[in-house]
Amino acid sequence: MSETYQDNYQQSQTKTLPTLSFSEITKKEYKLGRESEDMTTRQLQKIADAVCSEFGVVQVPISFEGRQPHKHDGKRLKRYQLGVHQRTNFGNSRIQIYKYTAMRQKQRSAKGSISTLLHELCHYFDYRVCGLRKSIHSAGFYKRIGQLKDMLSC
Ligand SMILES: [Zn+2]
Repeated sequence: MSETYQDNYQQSQTKTLPTLSFSEITKKEYKLGRESEDMTTRQLQKIADAVCSEFGVVQVPISFEGRQPHKHDGKRLKRYQLGVHQRTNFGNSRIQIYKYTAMRQKQRSAKGSISTLLHELCHYFDYRVCGLRKSIHSAGFYKRIGQLKDMLSC
């Protein structure tokens, strides 16, 4: 483990998101989205835009398409990916939420796709809000997702 990795891990563990009280509009967007029968890119984008504006950061383009990339060993599904956060030029980002499940190719539920959206947004906030140089799946990262969920649902 290199020094920089350790430093970054340490920082990722200790950072928290600022505790904000979100507007009713943002919470409503989240609530309505979770109740949606047929999730769309537009709805995910609206939730993402609302959350980004709460934190005062630039909005990030969201796409909801494609089938979850996966590995299968012939017997069972080994691992699969729900979404991806990519950094583009000039410190910008884009987020893709995979629309169809790896094996059965069913459209993901509203709750599932929103949960993935929050995960990917937390990667974005690691850079934009927390000032981390790398965003990793530390225990601190999962705590930040929990913080975000709390702010959206209280
Ligand atoms: Zn992740």
